[in-house]
Amino acid sequence: MEQFVRQKEDRSNSSRDWIRATRGAAILLVLAVAGAACATDSETGPLTTHDEDAKPGAVDARNPEARTAIGAFRSANAQAVALAAYQQGQLQAGRVVAAQKWGLKRAPLLPPAPPAKKPELKTEKGWETKSGGPGLPPVITRVPTKDKVIFLTMDDGSNKDPRLIRMMKELNIPYSAFLTDREAGEDGYAYFRRMHKAGVPMHNHTLTHPELRKMTYAQQYKEICGQQDNLKKAFGKRPPLFRPPYGDYNGDSLLAAKRCGVRAVPLWQQEVFPTKWDYRRADRRFHPGDIVLTHFRGSDEWDGTMPDVIRQVLKKADREGYAIARLEDYV
Ligand SMILES: [Zn+2]
Repeated sequence: MEQFVRQKEDRSNSSRDWIRATRGAAILLVLAVAGAACATDSETGPLTTHDEDAKPGAVDARNPEARTAIGAFRSANAQAVALAAYQQGQLQAGRVVAAQKWGLKRAPLLPPAPPAKKPELKTEKGWETKSGGPGLPPVITRVPTKDKVIFLTMDDGSNKDPRLIRMMKELNIPYSAFLTDREAGEDGYAYFRRMHKAGVPMHNHTLTHPELRKMTYAQQYKEICGQQDNLKKAFGKRPPLFRPPYGDYNGDSLLAAKRCGVRAVPLWQQEVFPTKWDYRRADRRFHPGDIVLTHFRGSDEWDGTMPDVIRQVLKKADREGYAIARLEDYV
């Protein structure tokens, strides 16, 4: 717990309220542990309620360690806070271990709570001339937010490294996949179904990864809406997000996407490869709401593995004080 408090103290994050609350809870837990150490049996016995407003079952009595710590508090409210701190401490300890396992010096920053209301999206300046008119899905490279968060997205689907699913799950990092049928579907989406089961949303990146602008409306419709159908079959619903291959599209692409249920077209601000980064801004830093792109590729296609690439993103995010948030919570 001390390690948790110290680590939180020397890090900065936009979710300062969360940190303050957690730190307060952690201190309470330390007090609880100290209290429990000198409490009599009757005080740490059954976690019965002493306050009139106390609710039975507010404390998870299954865990003896938590029970001892939390039992020192007579008020149900204080018990609930102590339990939250205990669970947070357990969670943080797990995150530190996972970070070390995956080659990171410390656990990635936690994002703030998702916004109560998703921000309103408009096609960004510079992209609107291509967007084909009003009423079409907005094209964005970042999410309009002041939260110090970035969003991690991965495209195509040729590489199916099981370590990637494990790494992201153990580190609890959200990400979104944009799948091309030709590559992602070559095993009948078995790999991506496992990823989806681990909580990763699956979105549309066409059937065959063509240059859409060179195609007729009918051809584009087939590429985009055909993939919507495949993804519905594999994952149970038509995805709300579509990303055109190469970030290249015209009004027909957006119209076809709209007609088969696409709500927004997220492109990207930064693209990550094992040996280089591409930036749209000169300062090369993350900005709040930036969408980051990488690809499902392995060492047979480029100079590194998926965990290598993700590590780079996490290290840069850590250096610049950003947490990775879930794109679908904002878009
Ligand atoms: Zn692609």
